[in-house]
Amino acid sequence: MEKVYTQRMAKTGAPARDIYDEIFCSSPQGRCPLCGQRPVATLDHHLPKAHYPALAVAPLNLLPACSDCNKTKLASRPTRAEEVGLHPYYDDLGNEFWLKAQVIERRPTALRFSVAAPASWNVVLTARVENHFRTLGLASLYASEAAEELINIRHQLIKLRALDTANAVRDELERRAQSCALGRPNGWRAAAYRAWQASNWFCEGGFAFA
Ligand SMILES: [Zn+2]
Repeated sequence: MEKVYTQRMAKTGAPARDIYDEIFCSSPQGRCPLCGQRPVATLDHHLPKAHYPALAVAPLNLLPACSDCNKTKLASRPTRAEEVGLHPYYDDLGNEFWLKAQVIERRPTALRFSVAAPASWNVVLTARVENHFRTLGLASLYASEAAEELINIRHQLIKLRALDTANAVRDELERRAQSCALGRPNGWRAAAYRAWQASNWFCEGGFAFA
């Protein structure tokens, strides 16, 4: 079946290439649904085709993914429920905030991202999300993206702080947190703005030191 996938589905011009293309393009904004950040570059087998050949061409087992997430998942072979990777379309994580960022209050400042499991998650789901987060290296990916975001907004925050109090900075960050949360409540941007606006140290000038 692995050969069927390669020859009959993934190859350009293959008979089932339409299905491949449809899944490839199914992610909003062309972003990998596993990390939520990098662009889609391939299809990932949710349960790896090397270990589950019968599912090699099952559309429900195929996900659009970026190269990094796909490569990281290649070697994985879940043996316990806690080790089964998250399926971004079929695992329901609910609407509560679960991606948490914490401001590291030192110079240069940074954010530390982690999973904060809501009470509604059971033990297995919590372990699976934490495993997903750790395996794909999402804490460092999001910290790096957030550091870049801070470079882009720092000048505006310095001007706001010079004209007004820390409250003006906090209000601006809160507005951004709310707007981002409406788009991607558990995206790194929403989590970053929630953390920044909640830190007095950051709002009072910590943002200036990166
Ligand atoms: Zn990815």
